[in-house]
Amino acid sequence: MNQVEDLVAANRILAEHGVIDAYGHVSVRSQNDPKHYLLSRSIAPELVTHGDILEYDLDSNPVDPRGRESVRERFIHGEIYKARPDVNAVVHNHSPSVVPFSVTAIPMRPLFHMAAFVGEGVPNFEIRDEEKGTDLLIKTPYLGAALAKSLGKSPAALMRGHGSVTVGESLPRAVGRSIYLELSARMQLQAISIVGPGGKIVYLDDGEVRASVPAQDYGRAWPMWRAKALAGLKPHE
Ligand SMILES: [Zn+2]
Repeated sequence: MNQVEDLVAANRILAEHGVIDAYGHVSVRSQNDPKHYLLSRSIAPELVTHGDILEYDLDSNPVDPRGRESVRERFIHGEIYKARPDVNAVVHNHSPSVVPFSVTAIPMRPLFHMAAFVGEGVPNFEIRDEEKGTDLLIKTPYLGAALAKSLGKSPAALMRGHGSVTVGESLPRAVGRSIYLELSARMQLQAISIVGPGGKIVYLDDGEVRASVPAQDYGRAWPMWRAKALAGLKPHE
């Protein structure tokens, strides 16, 4: 597996699906050194190419910045990799349909089999509990660690008034979860609007969640997404 090429593809896939705008980001733990991760420099994800990928240690210091600007919220990635040895890929996004759930008391719940992981829990990180008067961004190791703590063992966490993080043991799974978290949020909003306030919605139960999650690695979608994302790019571009 060419990790850099996969990460270039991941950036473009998430942009294509409207999950990350000019500001979201995706990283992967280095297969050569589990105490390092790869993340694009500060550039719109849709424009990321091979030369934009930088390597970081888990304190989120660039190994060789090559004069390039790092994304300010990189501590999200480093601190989650520290806290979660099982996680090998992290996506941070401002997924538009997900944000409303971060500012209401209505939790995201699993209602669609492709996003059954929602049933494993999607906690909501309240940055105000850690620091008052922030611009909501995770710009320090302290806030990154607090977010990682709030995420706990979950596959995703909301970030109040800001966006979300999704994680996976592989890049395809973290990317797929981000795409399907956005779809699931949209479907839940649609279901709520169909039934009206207090109306009955049939969510997946715990047994259905447990039965569905292990198979959801987005393995069929990934090669298609990747091929489309890299089409037109020259090798090592
Ligand atoms: Zn952000």
